[in-house]
Amino acid sequence: ETIGVHLDRVVARWGDRTALVVREQGVRWTYAELKERVDAFAAGLLALGLEPGDRVGIWSPNNAEWVITQFATAKAGLILVNINPAYRVHELEYALNKVGCRALITATRFKTSDYLAMLREIAPELGSSHPGRLKSERLPRLETVIQIGGHEAGTLPFAEILEAGSGPQRVRLDELSRQLQFDDPINIQFTSGTTGAPKGATLTHHNILNNGFFIGEAQRLSPEDKVCIPVPLYHCFGMVLGNLACITHGSAMIYPGGGFDPGAVLATVHEERCTALYGVPTMFIAELEHPSFKEVDLSSLRTGIMAGSPCPIEVMRRVINEMNMREVTIAYGMTETSPVSFQSSVDDPIERRVSTVGRIHPHVEVKIVDERGRIVPRGVPGELCTRGYSVMRGYWDDPERTAEAIDAARWMHTGDLATIDEEGYCNIVGRIKDMVIRGGENIYPREIEEFLYTHPKVQDVQCFGVPDRKYGEELCAAIILRAGVEATEEEIRKFCEGKIAHYKIPRYIRFVDSFPTTVTGKVQKFMLRAETAAELG
Ligand code: ATP
Ligand code: MG
Repeated sequence: ETIGVHLDRVVARWGDRTALVVREQGVRWTYAELKERVDAFAAGLLALGLEPGDRVGIWSPNNAEWVITQFATAKAGLILVNINPAYRVHELEYALNKVGCRALITATRFKTSDYLAMLREIAPELGSSHPGRLKSERLPRLETVIQIGGHEAGTLPFAEILEAGSGPQRVRLDELSRQLQFDDPINIQFTSGTTGAPKGATLTHHNILNNGFFIGEAQRLSPEDKVCIPVPLYHCFGMVLGNLACITHGSAMIYPGGGFDPGAVLATVHEERCTALYGVPTMFIAELEHPSFKEVDLSSLRTGIMAGSPCPIEVMRRVINEMNMREVTIAYGMTETSPVSFQSSVDDPIERRVSTVGRIHPHVEVKIVDERGRIVPRGVPGELCTRGYSVMRGYWDDPERTAEAIDAARWMHTGDLATIDEEGYCNIVGRIKDMVIRGGENIYPREIEEFLYTHPKVQDVQCFGVPDRKYGEELCAAIILRAGVEATEEEIRKFCEGKIAHYKIPRYIRFVDSFPTTVTGKVQKFMLRAETAAELG
């Protein structure tokens, strides 16, 4: 089934239920109201002359237009290209040129970003009466820029496309959306860029719609649920774990607004009586530490998802006990696999939910292999590989990197180290790239982070390797202290002595105010590593 056909079925069944709330914009639509806008926008895009298979980019923080665009492009058979709203000129040009977008939907302004000004730097013709064009022989030209919340020279306002999508185009849309195939590519999602330059994963209706369904199943979502989604839409966390899990279960998608603001998230849960809350660990930490945390009523919460990076056990416990998320689940996945492949379910005992990423999703195969590709015994760490409906088509226009990631038997090599126990629960040990090898001893940074996290003064911590002449690598811990407290390196090291093996005690300890992160809030260890290496000389 395609996403468009699915949305129509949901509307037939739950049309008068709340579909979307975007508090910052005052948006509050039922499924029927959402569908009306989706169909109008899809028809409006066709009226521009766009054809199935054409790429349409979106470069915007979270808003209602983003949600409309996601479903409208799917319905019209266009390939939506998610562009990180934090990208600057250079990265935007890379993304647009990589995939050749015929149209780009962009926000006007967000925080310090003036999107149109940046776009003009790479498409100077935009301001004139000519359409913008990117320098590329091979790819289609960027013909149309659709602006959300504004109307500057050379752009079409989003609202105008909505209006254009009535009449004959609707008939064409209906015909077309019936012809689309479930395995047509529908989406190019760039990976987070946690370990380097982002890669564009090509995904089909089949990939992401099914994954969304199983993600909702694990949380046991229903039309009674209201899911608070403070994670970005440009990333699979928002568009698949958020929107597709909701629409496959008739649940409401509740967005606080554009950027991540812990106070606004708490207020949203409180006022909307949300039943589920999503986030990466750093977001949950920020919410737990926020001054208004004690004042808000979170008793409506039941479930949710913590995912994206390792979740400290302590944080999981606080989320369950203090945020009332008794049925919270942990999900593990990657953009390339639609994304989720492991998820705990509401039935799993709490102990399993705080310490593992749960069991394999339905219809996905898994194996754990050593460096030579041999399956390792249970409990032994190795590279996690997955296979099944959820594995992407490949990286867009990049057969080489695709071949590195997906082997001839269609196994996706995740680059993550994991163990699976007798009962099938999976533990993510860390990224292969992040493992520190100090004088021949393997150190898993995750383990040291978990330990340091138990220090009462530590709010957040990241461990990583830095080059060392004698040992090859030395371990460094970057620590964010809790508000108002001070600590010394001495004190932290003393805390470790006798509790963890000597070689695992961080040689370097840095106190920092924040970590370099991606927009999803994932810590970019390669940046921390480079900064520290530069400081050490
Ligand atoms: P890039 O591939 O560009 O460096 P990225 O790998 O962070 O960035 P994503 O596809 O967004 O891009 O993230 C997938 C990765 O996130 C996984 O490979 C894994 O390392 C990590 N991850 C996701 N969920 C979890 C989790 N629950 N626990 C631990 N790690 C996780
Ligand atoms: Mg990755």
